[in-house]
This record gives sequence, structure tokens and C-alpha cells, in this order.
Amino acid sequence: MNKLFFLIFTLLISNLLIGQDRKVPPEATEIWEPVPRKVDPGADNATPPSDAVVLFGGKDLSEWESATEEGGDAKWEVKDGIFTVVAKTGAIKTKKEFGSCQLHIEWRSPQEIVGEGQGRGNSGIFLMSKYEVQVLDSYESKTYSNGQAASIYKQSIPLVNAMRPTTEWEVYDIIFNAPKFNKDGILKSPASVTIFHNGVLVQNNFELKGPTEYNRIPIYEPHADKMPIILQDHGNPVSFRNIWIRDIE
Ligand code: MG
Repeated sequence: MNKLFFLIFTLLISNLLIGQDRKVPPEATEIWEPVPRKVDPGADNATPPSDAVVLFGGKDLSEWESATEEGGDAKWEVKDGIFTVVAKTGAIKTKKEFGSCQLHIEWRSPQEIVGEGQGRGNSGIFLMSKYEVQVLDSYESKTYSNGQAASIYKQSIPLVNAMRPTTEWEVYDIIFNAPKFNKDGILKSPASVTIFHNGVLVQNNFELKGPTEYNRIPIYEPHADKMPIILQDHGNPVSFRNIWIRDIE
């Protein structure tokens, strides 16, 4: 009994002491430096913030080039402030390279509904040329869940299906953390991604298992810190507009 009393007494006293120990003047927990630099967020959500790299503002594909072996200009169609996949001309990629980033991208499924599942309005956004955020007409079209719109293709099912009807524009806001590799090429930390689809959280800090694979188990291989973003030509006339990106510092 004495032992128990002693134990409780000791616990009470130590808790009291720890509580006292943690007390500091309020100023001691104020951090004044660095002061975050100013960014003009733009007048509305359609306007890129002042420090963004605009990858497509409605005029041309000057920020893009063909991702095919032949290279050259991006061969997709630009019209009325949007651009559209031209089937069989191949994927396109950014001329600039990016690693960890915040990417805003708007896309629209083909206006004529053709096909089913993976064949209906398929494209994709390959972060660092390797990690695909699926673009697909998943409004009322069945496919495997880890292959529908806003999935990390074959790796992560979106938390919800936030698709608008096929005729409308979809918005992705993607926060991507690039994977890190040690000097010997061993993976130090995997890539992770958070995605809002039309403002709805669909991927919550998902850690990727490796690059996107269609019929293989993904496995990380070391690569550069920054690489182009690729948009996929899957043979369907998917359209895009208002694309901007910010490096994560
Ligand atoms: Mg795709």
C-alpha cells in the first residue's frame, strides 16, 4: 500500500514539475524570421498566382514539345483558348523540368461520348514523366477503380468520384513531392501526392509505390530531381486549358 501511495505521489509531483518546465514567456515561442514572401493570388481562381509558371494560358503550346522519339513541336490542336489531343501524334511534354510542385490543370472529356471504361476520354498527367494522375471520363462509365479519373494509375483509388458531367470542365489541383534518392541510388523517401478534383480531396498524401506501370509491379529507380511533365495521347480527343505550376520550395 505504501508503495502504491509513493508511486502515485511521485507521478503527481513529476507531472507538476514537467508542466512547470514547459511554461515559457509567450514571446519565446514567436518566430519572426523568415517572413514568407508575397504572392499575388490573382483576382479569382481562374487567374494564376503571380509566382506561377504558366504552361498554357490559352494562346499556344510554346511551353510544350513532342514527347515522341522524333521530338519537335507539340502537334496537338489549339483552338478557342483550349488545346486538344490529336490522336496518334503522340504525347507532349513541358520544355521546362519540374520536381516537387503545385500543379493546376483543367481538362475536359471528349464532347462526343465514345467507348467505355479506359477507352472513354483517356489521357493522363505524368509527373516527372513517370507518375500518372489519370485523366478519364469517369462521369458515368465503369472501369477498375484504381484506373478511374483522379486515381494514381494502378496504385491508388480516389477517395471519391468528383466528376462533373462530360460536357463540363474538370479541375485538378495537385501537390506533388518528388521522391528522393541517396547517392548510391537507394530510395530515401517515396514520392507523395495530394489531389483536389473540382475542389474535393481525392488523394490524401498518397505515397507512390514507384513509377506508373501498366502490367508490371512498380519499382523505384533513381532519376533526376527535375523532369518534364508529360500529357498522354491515349487516342481520345481530351481537351486542356489553364495550366500553371509552382515549384515547392
Ligand atoms: Mg491515362
